[in-house]
Amino acid sequence: MTGTSSTRIPLRDGDWPDAPPSPESAPFVAAAREGRFLLRRCTACGKAHWYPRALCPFCLGETAWEEASGQGTIYGYTLLAREDPPRTIAYVTLAEGPTMLTSLVDCEKGALAVGRPVQLVFVRSRDGTPVPCFRPVAMDDLPEPAAGERRRRRRSAWPGPPG
Ligand SMILES: [Zn+2]
Repeated sequence: MTGTSSTRIPLRDGDWPDAPPSPESAPFVAAAREGRFLLRRCTACGKAHWYPRALCPFCLGETAWEEASGQGTIYGYTLLAREDPPRTIAYVTLAEGPTMLTSLVDCEKGALAVGRPVQLVFVRSRDGTPVPCFRPVAMDDLPEPAAGERRRRRRSAWPGPPG
């Protein structure tokens, strides 16, 4: 495999460092083991945030867990080409609002672009703890937009990889 546009970024279980266990992250990890992705949302101002915190970073209100969709879009990314195999770190903006630092997996480097839809996938760390990562959504897999949304969707649709 040669050329940067065909760089494959694999999904690799077991290569991820373990996160130190903590009482705060225990509900997140327990849900992740069941394949569910949890966020915390403020019960006062209603905003969701990442990473999960007991107090809202916007208003210091109380927060509660909620299950997130796992859908997002790429806000920015960079390929760590000298890693073997290559790895891509990214900021992904979740459908619920927050932007999180994560990794993109199971994709070709040439298929990545800012604004491209991505879907959560859990990758296992060395001790088996689920780590939230994202893979690009195939454009064919996107749900059909509602009639009123169709025009806006067409204008803002991901244009495809450059070149
Ligand atoms: Zn708040």
